[in-house]
This record gives sequence, structure tokens and C-alpha cells, in this order.
Amino acid sequence: MTYSDLLKDPRWQKKRLEIFMRDGWKCRECGRNDLELQVHHEKYFGDPWEIPNKFLKTVCFKCHACISTGIDFTSFKLITRQKFGVEICKQKSMERQK
Ligand SMILES: [Zn+2]
Repeated sequence: MTYSDLLKDPRWQKKRLEIFMRDGWKCRECGRNDLELQVHHEKYFGDPWEIPNKFLKTVCFKCHACISTGIDFTSFKLITRQKFGVEICKQKSMERQK
């Protein structure tokens, strides 16, 4: 079973709805609600639906890409949000890959 199969599991589908509802159906990083929303896992262990809600948060796909690149997002968050959008985050990650 692959990870994407796991994410199709009804137990995970239910869990992510819970997280979206808790977070008011908007990104907790940039606050947008007009982009595709995803659930970010701050910790991974066991099956995705077994992770306590406090380690899960609603993010848009852009912020999720940003977080998933392993950038210390907290330090960039204010700058990215206020001035540059998430583009700077992508640039940083590209620089890092060089
Ligand atoms: Zn966002």
C-alpha cells in the first residue's frame, strides 16, 4: 500500500475534514481560502489518521509546498506573507538545491 493509497482511506478523509473545519477552511500560514487546501503533518508516525490533531494543520497547496521543502518556515513567514507571497520561499528552496 502506498502513501497516496493511505490518504484515500475513509479514516483519513474524515480526519482531514475535521482539521479543515477546526481551522475554518483556510490556510493557517497565509490565511487564504481560495486555494486548494491540504493538511500538513508536523509529525509523522503510524497511520496518517492516528496522528493527534495538534500535529495537523490546514495549509493551502502553495504554503504546503513551501513547508515541505524543509525551509524554516517560521522565520520566513512574516516576510513572505507581508511582502513577497510564497514565491520567495520557492526561490530559497531552489537556491538550497544547488
Ligand atoms: Zn497558504
